Amino acid sequence: MKHYDVIIVGAGSIGMAAGYFLSKEGKRVLLLDAHDPPHTMGSHGGDTRLIRHAYGEGRAYTPLALKSQQLWDDLQEQSELPIFQKTGVLSFGPVDTPFLKEALESAKAHHLQAEKLTEAEMKRRWAGLQFPEEGPYIGCYEPDAGVLFVENCIQTYRDLALQEGADLLTETPVKDVTMRDEQISVQTSKNSYIADDVIICAGAWNRKLLQGVDLMLPLQPKRQVVGWFEANDQLFGSCEGFPGFSAHTPSGIFYGFPSIDGSGVKVGCHDFGQVTEPDEMVREFGVYDEDEDVLSQFLKTWMPEAGGHLKKGLTCLYTMTPDEHFIIDTHPNNNRILIAAGFSGHGFKFASGIGHELTQHILKGKTEMDLSLFKLNRQALTT
Ligand SMILES: Cc1cc2nc3c(=O)[nH]c(=O)nc-3n(C[C@H](O)[C@H](O)[C@H](O)COP(=O)(O)OP(=O)(O)OC[C@H]3O[C@@H](n4cnc5c(N)ncnc54)[C@H](O)[C@@H]3O)c2cc1C
Repeated sequence: MKHYDVIIVGAGSIGMAAGYFLSKEGKRVLLLDAHDPPHTMGSHGGDTRLIRHAYGEGRAYTPLALKSQQLWDDLQEQSELPIFQKTGVLSFGPVDTPFLKEALESAKAHHLQAEKLTEAEMKRRWAGLQFPEEGPYIGCYEPDAGVLFVENCIQTYRDLALQEGADLLTETPVKDVTMRDEQISVQTSKNSYIADDVIICAGAWNRKLLQGVDLMLPLQPKRQVVGWFEANDQLFGSCEGFPGFSAHTPSGIFYGFPSIDGSGVKVGCHDFGQVTEPDEMVREFGVYDEDEDVLSQFLKTWMPEAGGHLKKGLTCLYTMTPDEHFIIDTHPNNNRILIAAGFSGHGFKFASGIGHELTQHILKGKTEMDLSLFKLNRQALTT
């Protein structure tokens, strides 16, 4: 059986970044993926992801967001492809929204450039925004935040990992991971391999794979939809200064992207989606009437001049944990198995930072950053 220092099960957002950092450190790495990343079958399809640093989901994420941003900027230096565009990101909602309070507090705690804006200030800056009467609304605007081009990020990490000597097997699903005394064996549909360390980071398929190593985790895959809508580029173009956004509304949390090079405004809803198994998911956009309606209704209310014709729609997968915090930890019975799972619809921005931290753990036995929020033994995962 061929032996590697590290085998990575799932070469997607997290796995490909880890594959690059590990191989750069001289580790002999095997990356295994069921598909051919980047692809649209898992959680990283759909062109773009937002990166915010002032973090409404909890200020504990901010150091990892800043580290990740620095690593994306480094990746940009090594790539001809666009990796990151500093569009700014505006989060807005009613004045008492806990997410906005936390985002502003995290900005203060970490000395970030973030502005607290009134409804009038937001309207003045971005004429495409409209606020329903119920307000008042406030905004948290981060000029240094922006948009990551997700396929370019994964493709560049893939190219660099291969240049550093990593092996990558695509269209090669892992069937089983087996713990041995000193080593771990990984079985694919074709072969078996041995490694000193294994990272399991198979996105929406993690629950099933982790059951194979006796870990029953409350990981819930969810079908998500995103749509690109025709928009007036004078109002919504990234070059004209329209930002990425996260909108906290009575009908749910919506997020979106300015029209980039005439792409139209892209929008999704964090709260909408169907619980599913990844292999049984309805892949086609528009099968359910709500796929388009929920998105166009949001635009009609909040950005009426971006609510034009649907140009394109796509489905994608979230993997939710009960508290929407990630799982990054070692296996309770084998600290040579690392688990990175449950990214709950907000993990991509951290993929570079998490890939780096998983590498530190394998090299030094511990991460550089405090990742205790993501431990397996927290209450939300054990009750
Ligand atoms: C619509 C949508 C919008 C989002 N917006 C944002 C955003 O704006 N900002 C943000 O930060 N995050 C966002 N996210 C979340 C982010 O994209 C995910 O958290 C992140 O991509 C998860 O990475 P992953 O590595 O866990 O999964 P993936 O990138 O899906 O990688 C998992 C890989 O494992 C492979 N795999 C599966 N089973 C096996 C197996 N048995 N053997 C081998 N390989 C296997 C898959 O083929 C896949 O390549 C969004 C997600 C969606 C769906």
